[in-house]
Amino acid sequence: MLPTTADIVIIGGGCMGVSAAYYLAARGAGQVVLLEREKFLGMGSTGRNAGGVRYQFSTEVNIRLSIFSLAVISHFEELCGISACYHPIGYLFLLQTPKEVEVFKANVELQRRVGVPWVRYLEPREIAQLVPLVNLDGVLGGTFCPRDGLADPNSVTQGFAKGARAHGAQIEMETTVTGIKTERGRVAAVVTNRGEIATRTVVNCAGPWAAQIGALAGVDIPILPVRRQFFTTDALPQIPREHTFVIEFATSLYFHPEGAGLLVGMSNPDEKPADTYAIDEDFHCKTLERAIYRLPLLENACVASQIAGLYEVTPDAHPILAQARALSGFYIAAGFSGHGFQHSPATGKVMSELILDGKATTIDISMLDLERFAEGRLVQEVNVV
Ligand SMILES: Cc1cc2nc3c(=O)[nH]c(=O)nc-3n(C[C@H](O)[C@H](O)[C@H](O)COP(=O)(O)OP(=O)(O)OC[C@H]3O[C@@H](n4cnc5c(N)ncnc54)[C@H](O)[C@@H]3O)c2cc1C
Repeated sequence: MLPTTADIVIIGGGCMGVSAAYYLAARGAGQVVLLEREKFLGMGSTGRNAGGVRYQFSTEVNIRLSIFSLAVISHFEELCGISACYHPIGYLFLLQTPKEVEVFKANVELQRRVGVPWVRYLEPREIAQLVPLVNLDGVLGGTFCPRDGLADPNSVTQGFAKGARAHGAQIEMETTVTGIKTERGRVAAVVTNRGEIATRTVVNCAGPWAAQIGALAGVDIPILPVRRQFFTTDALPQIPREHTFVIEFATSLYFHPEGAGLLVGMSNPDEKPADTYAIDEDFHCKTLERAIYRLPLLENACVASQIAGLYEVTPDAHPILAQARALSGFYIAAGFSGHGFQHSPATGKVMSELILDGKATTIDISMLDLERFAEGRLVQEVNVV
């Protein structure tokens, strides 16, 4: 039965929604209800992502979100009873211009200063030792962090959901939010296909669809859905399973071990915002071509699957973690612009603090407000592909 009242209603059952539900319920936030329109959790971007987790970001707030989140992900079983399958295979950024080298050297300094001592700059000969199968033509240097790597989005989502339920949160599937009622500048109720829930607090965790939820409440949220796709290959025994995650920064080509093969992706810079999971075969061929250039042994690999998903893109590639100033009780945790899975633990934590204490104390997220876009206070992240 859908409840008729709730203290907090969370919209969206991806990694963000369940993390928020977990941290809120664990703090004893009252009746916490999560609504998801699909039959299962993690059917949106969370179920279509590459599983990368990394400390290597270019802004202090993103690095701090990573430090908290990776600490949780690496000990997830202790928190939620399920392993997050964390594999610290490392992330290697390949750099091809003096400008990239300069920017990434500065990033390494920032990362080390903020609390990531393991990250370092590598010269081409060190890169050749680390990834002997990779063609390093044109590579001037790279940055490497051995504690970056992979984790399983499904395990993290199920783990947080299990933990949230254990603390009394209610998760309602096949429940589509169709309206948000307001009264005198604050949230009053959430309308769904299964009935209405009176509440004074809503958390918008609708990922690529967060702007649609905002529109239901009369709040303008600049998050656009942008298709990104990747493919996996059949078994490639030549590539060790602990081979590092490689990203060619200029093109955004990336690959890492997946099952017995590889997962290979690249972002199309010309992709227009749209809500589609169709595979763009032309761009798939471009990705394949570039991947074979960097990793020649791929020439003999077979494509096993192709997957498209949606990035949830903001104008500055940073999420919105805030209460809307124009509508009291309307909170937003969305817009991670393609790297949200790895920040889901920290997001749930800081949102619980923001909602229950009025301010996030674990990490200063004050610059991630909604109003920064209208007021021209963007927080640009460059390490996003
Ligand atoms: C191809 C690809 C690769 C990626 N790789 C990585 C990676 O390596 N590392 C990383 O950290 N991140 C990665 N990401 C990004 C990551 O997947 C997202 O940032 C993250 O999953 C966002 O989670 P979310 O919970 O905000 O959104 P979602 O998982 O999309 O969840 C939103 C949920 O809201 C629900 N919803 C929407 N509207 C309504 C409504 N009206 N009523 C009820 N429910 C509703 C949807 O059904 C959905 O389940 C990748 C993304 C893509 C597409």
